[in-house]
Amino acid sequence: MTFPSTARVVIIGGGVVGVSALYHLAKAGWSDCVLLEKNELTAGSTWHAAGNCPNFAANYGILNMQRYSLELYRGLGDEVDYPINYNVTGAIRLAHSHERMMEFERVRGMAAHMGLTMDMCTPDELRQHFPFLETHDLEGGLWDPLDGDIDPSQVTQALANGARAHGATILRFTPATGVTRSNGEWIVHTEKGDIRCDYVVNAAGYYAARVGDWFLPHGGRKVPMTVMSHQYFLTEAIPEVEAWTKEHGRKLPLLRDVDSSYYLRQDTYSLNLGPYERNCRAAWVNADDPMPDDFSFQLYPDDLDRLEWYIMDAMERVPLLGSQGVQRNINGPIPYAPDGLPMVGPMPGVPNAFEAHSFTFGIAQGGGAGKVLSEWIMHGHTEWDMWSVDPRRFTDYTDPQYNLGKALETYGHEYAMHFPHHEWSAARDKKRSPVHERLLADGAQMGVYGGWERANWFAKPGDETSEEATHTWNRNGPWERRVREEVEVVRDGVGIIDICGFSRFELSGAGAAEWLRGRVSGALPKVGRMNLLYFPDTRGHVLTEMSCVRHDEDHFTLITAAAAQWHDFEVLWRHLPEELTLVDRTRETNSLLVTGPKSRDLLAGLSDADLSLGWLTHQNATVAGRSALLLRVSFAGELGWEVHASPEDTPAIYDAIRGAGATPFGMYALNSMRIEKGYLTWKGDLSTDYSLLETGLNRFVRFDKEQDFPGKEALAAEAEKGPLKQRVTLVVEPGEQDAPYMAAVFANGKRVGEVTSSAYGYRLDAAIAIAMIETDAAKPGTQLAVEVFGKQLSATVQDTSCLWDPGNIRIRA
Ligand SMILES: Cc1cc2nc3c(=O)[nH]c(=O)nc-3n(C[C@H](O)[C@H](O)[C@H](O)COP(=O)(O)OP(=O)(O)OC[C@H]3O[C@@H](n4cnc5c(N)ncnc54)[C@H](O)[C@@H]3O)c2cc1C
Repeated sequence: MTFPSTARVVIIGGGVVGVSALYHLAKAGWSDCVLLEKNELTAGSTWHAAGNCPNFAANYGILNMQRYSLELYRGLGDEVDYPINYNVTGAIRLAHSHERMMEFERVRGMAAHMGLTMDMCTPDELRQHFPFLETHDLEGGLWDPLDGDIDPSQVTQALANGARAHGATILRFTPATGVTRSNGEWIVHTEKGDIRCDYVVNAAGYYAARVGDWFLPHGGRKVPMTVMSHQYFLTEAIPEVEAWTKEHGRKLPLLRDVDSSYYLRQDTYSLNLGPYERNCRAAWVNADDPMPDDFSFQLYPDDLDRLEWYIMDAMERVPLLGSQGVQRNINGPIPYAPDGLPMVGPMPGVPNAFEAHSFTFGIAQGGGAGKVLSEWIMHGHTEWDMWSVDPRRFTDYTDPQYNLGKALETYGHEYAMHFPHHEWSAARDKKRSPVHERLLADGAQMGVYGGWERANWFAKPGDETSEEATHTWNRNGPWERRVREEVEVVRDGVGIIDICGFSRFELSGAGAAEWLRGRVSGALPKVGRMNLLYFPDTRGHVLTEMSCVRHDEDHFTLITAAAAQWHDFEVLWRHLPEELTLVDRTRETNSLLVTGPKSRDLLAGLSDADLSLGWLTHQNATVAGRSALLLRVSFAGELGWEVHASPEDTPAIYDAIRGAGATPFGMYALNSMRIEKGYLTWKGDLSTDYSLLETGLNRFVRFDKEQDFPGKEALAAEAEKGPLKQRVTLVVEPGEQDAPYMAAVFANGKRVGEVTSSAYGYRLDAAIAIAMIETDAAKPGTQLAVEVFGKQLSATVQDTSCLWDPGNIRIRA
């Protein structure tokens, strides 16, 4: 084969993920793509993976990606004429507690929403699936009939076969050695020659951080990942397992004891035990333990002592496990991002470069990851919103110490439940507000928002603030009474919240306004005013929302969510003409919100601002003698001002406002109030899963604009036909829990949509949910049901999304 000197896409890394990306690109017609593998395909983590392929995931995006992979794998062998050992054995998950059963109910509901059947089980039913199981201390479990195990090498080779059949090229034993950029093209270097290409993909598995460093001179960042050592061992053959298999003509289902933190599965006639141990270990993190240049097909030394507690626990659960000795142990490298989810999508800061790495379940997710990545490269967007794996979700707060702390925590809690009021404790305080200590002194219980520490609620002396108290799915906890009080203070008096970390970009230069008009669906604010701007993708789906403050004809500040910092900067920067200037000023300013009917009176005593200026205006003024930008808006839906000031001036301003009588409130109270007001959250209600019209943003879409903003044509076509879905606000029977993200909504027993956010509204004393539902079921007054942890709660479609102060009288006061 002649060495290809050009390609459309070069993928670095021939594990299951890189090969799947190549397969999906080639199958979609992008055959002019090359994959470089430094050794043989599968030489990285893929060759030694256990090959378990679950559907189950608590995260909707991951569940969807795994569902897709499994569907693909079931037909792949035939499609590409490459037989694959794929045992669809089904799997049971065990629950030791009521809370765990609730988690299973939640995932069962999400899975059903995407067409998958999983069944809740009693302990007896678990034993019917897996007869060698001790169940006396179990609450029950979950059965997924489509779980199983696949041969990781075979599935990779099958994908490679498919990719080659569609014309793609795979170069084995061809390490990439670096990249350069010239005339808008990438040049990927190898010892055999250079390849010029339009797009490059880092799919280098546990070498992804090293490959990522090549992109530092091109705007890249240090890849936030840690390599962990992960083990499983195989027993000798167990006669009882052999006898059962022969009698039933199939393998035992996979078993996951998630509360004890291990899986157990049959391998021929032996058992394979794989724990995620608390006392886990990272590899290659110190200078005296450097990562070797080549670790192809290698393993770490056995470290079974670390697994002792898990082995003993599993032997009590399945006594047969102890009947035979260990035949073989596998201890291999597995890459972990700080949150344990993979990174798939655009490489932050670098043009035409993508990533697909840091997979902890890469065999189960590889198929889906290939689909997602190929869509991103080919179309610039993905069919499903994939923010949960977007590499831009981590910003400048990651560093080796953070990555390590989070990786150890995440690995050790791989199967942990993610309760809505629980905050993980590792590697905290990466970004603190200038009034952090003051918040703590007032009893703040902190949470992390895009790396920033913010108060969730304020405890009073004697309140329960233990981590254990947050181990509940229920709305009710020690915080609830305080959240209600905080809301009442804002409703009746004046509250202050420190919302540090708002992302903030300054856009300027002759022609800035005209350019911005061509990127957003709506109109820009007039000078001196502010409004919301929506950025559609080319399908007219919601890419993001920014608050736009217009200082001058061609001078703007764009403010967005803390978590959106890198994502939203790129939404602007990737299309920015050379003559315009875009500066990220996030670190330079801190934001406070002072809100409530008495906020004007309070600020009047501290500020020279003209507090009679109307809603959606802004002005530079002083507060407590310090300079600040005042925005007349309140996400709480009361009279109020955001006070934006430098970190140096913020403490004095905060002290003056607190001293004048404002009560601090937290994010839980703010969320309760924003949902009553119908204000939307980014990556909850606002996502690329839905169009602007489905999201009900019609008044922000100006079809009569002369600018061809992205998605204009698609939105016009949709407007003509009428959107298929519609955002509605539901008042839900209160129940004990708020409806989780993607909780299914039913009309007369038929699925008609899903919840995108929910909270209890303490001013209205009502459980509120924002949902996307089929247009037919969206009429005000329609009676629906929302499935909340397995219970069907009745819900009514409201005639407005703004349930609190629908006339905006309070906010305009
Ligand atoms: C013990 C163990 C058990 C596991 N069990 C499971 C399981 O049951 N189910 C599951 O879903 N996942 C499991 N995993 C995780 C799974 O192995 C990984 O998530 C998956 O293999 C990742 O695939 P990948 O393609 O991202 O990376 P890799 O398989 O590591 O592939 C990366 C490739 O890039 C190549 N490369 C690196 N640098 C270069 C370069 N400069 N030029 C060219 N090529 C380069 C490497 O040689 C390698 O082949 C397990 C992992 C371990 C350690």
